[in-house]
Amino acid sequence: MLYTRQVPGEFSAWTEAGRKGWTWDDVEPYYNKSETTLSHTKSEHRGHKGPWFNRRLDDIPMQNISESVSERALCALSSHNHVRTIAATSSFGIPYVTESNDPSAPAVCCARLDHTIDDQGRRCSAFDAFLPPHVALRSNLDICTEIVVTSVDLEETPNGLRAVGVFFEHDSIIRGKTHRRYHCSAKREVILSSGAIGTPKILMLSGVGPAEHLKSLNIPVKKDLPGVGANLQDHLGVPVIFKAPKHDTFEKLLSNPFSILWELIKYLLFATGLMLCPLPQISIFALSRLLDDDSNTVVHSANGKAEFDAHISSNVPDIELMALSINASDEQFVELKDWYTGAFSYLCVALRPESHGTLRLRSVDPRDFPVCDLAFLTKPNDYVVMRKAVKLGLALGRRLREQGYPLRDLQVPDSESDEDLDKFIRAGSRTTFHYSSTCRMAPEAELGAVDDQLRVHGIQGLRIADASIFSSIPATHLQAPVVMVAERCADFIKASY
Ligand SMILES: Cc1cc2nc3c(=O)[nH]c(=O)nc-3n(C[C@H](O)[C@H](O)[C@H](O)COP(=O)(O)OP(=O)(O)OC[C@H]3O[C@@H](n4cnc5c(N)ncnc54)[C@H](O)[C@@H]3O)c2cc1C
Repeated sequence: MLYTRQVPGEFSAWTEAGRKGWTWDDVEPYYNKSETTLSHTKSEHRGHKGPWFNRRLDDIPMQNISESVSERALCALSSHNHVRTIAATSSFGIPYVTESNDPSAPAVCCARLDHTIDDQGRRCSAFDAFLPPHVALRSNLDICTEIVVTSVDLEETPNGLRAVGVFFEHDSIIRGKTHRRYHCSAKREVILSSGAIGTPKILMLSGVGPAEHLKSLNIPVKKDLPGVGANLQDHLGVPVIFKAPKHDTFEKLLSNPFSILWELIKYLLFATGLMLCPLPQISIFALSRLLDDDSNTVVHSANGKAEFDAHISSNVPDIELMALSINASDEQFVELKDWYTGAFSYLCVALRPESHGTLRLRSVDPRDFPVCDLAFLTKPNDYVVMRKAVKLGLALGRRLREQGYPLRDLQVPDSESDEDLDKFIRAGSRTTFHYSSTCRMAPEAELGAVDDQLRVHGIQGLRIADASIFSSIPATHLQAPVVMVAERCADFIKASY
């Protein structure tokens, strides 16, 4: 439910890399078109008429939230650990901003986050926003659920290869039986939106991808496009975890099944209570090069304020720390089983990893999962950034303690030596579910799969609109950027007909 946009500097980088029509001024109207912000109602940089609602949590009327003081505290950001984190980051020279999606916001900041929650306090997903009943029931739209697209129908025409439809089957797995195959033909275009895992898989099954790999599976090569499935990226996250008073954390829900049930009922019936609250309500965005060796202070260079200018490509943040009032690892700690001890985590994330991996087919079975090699931490510089991120989490924990907040170490490195930090990073790292860039927008020679208008290289009538097209992983959470790409794709299609 986090609604975060890319900073303008990302699009400066795209333009510097040769992309055309993707400056901040080009994309901002598309970000605005899809959304209605319920919190930043006066901002000229935000959308006010789109179907997709978002808001900052404390703008939800208090009567919609449970009256319990501690629940209100969590929902309304007055939770001790969040408020103290804001104070701690300020003391490090990291400014606090309440509108992180404003293009003039500093690149380095502690940001209040927007969430895709509507005016009734209910989650507003992309499904709710873009497929409401009056759209879903339109006579010119057919929606087929529980299906798996098996391939794109590609036809050799006098003008070259053309996508003329898709093949699909029921999604069930029937052992020993052949699935009935359906075909859907396209008068104009096919648009693939199956995500950074699904889209390259469909293309490869259709004979579009790295020729050697396709041949190894006896798939006839229609178009040798090495960029398909290359450059798989994700944001690696490493949680630094502290013990905190349970009443300040979501752990109190987990330790008491009845409270989960009660909260679920409240949420389902009245859209109130703790289950309304997304876990991260603030995030710290930082530039590793500006943090000192202990990640204690932001060191300004001679450029002064220009260092924080989010329009400059080199200032795109490479670190995010999400403040989470919960144990952010998959490990179950016995220490959290009592009535008093909860967990507070900083999930330390590398936003601009240099490492990138690959996605390959496991078999020609469209139901088989592909082989995803994320190649995390294969570039040495990614360790440099992660170390700074983890040190920042540790420094914040120390500062909270100095402020009198009773944090105790739960999962932290043995020391801050590079060796111990690297060991900690390798042992504790996890995905943040931001898979991207497997059909990146770039020339073919640069391992690209689509052009600046999202058309697949060398194939007519085929576009991609999903997280696979990003040239490199956006330095933020991906749902708002993906929707922006979809809005742009719709206009590219309209403009070409
Ligand atoms: C647990 C989790 C939490 C997240 N939280 C946030 C958040 O708070 N904020 C944020 O900004 N981002 C968040 N993300 C990331 C964000 O959801 C994704 O980056 C985004 O949804 C990607 O959009 P997409 O259209 O590329 O792919 P998807 O949203 O994955 O859509 C692809 C769709 O295609 C379908 N599909 C794939 N292959 C086929 C096939 N062969 N046939 C038919 N259908 C197929 C899939 O089932 C899926 O429905 C989260 C992701 C996860 C997993």
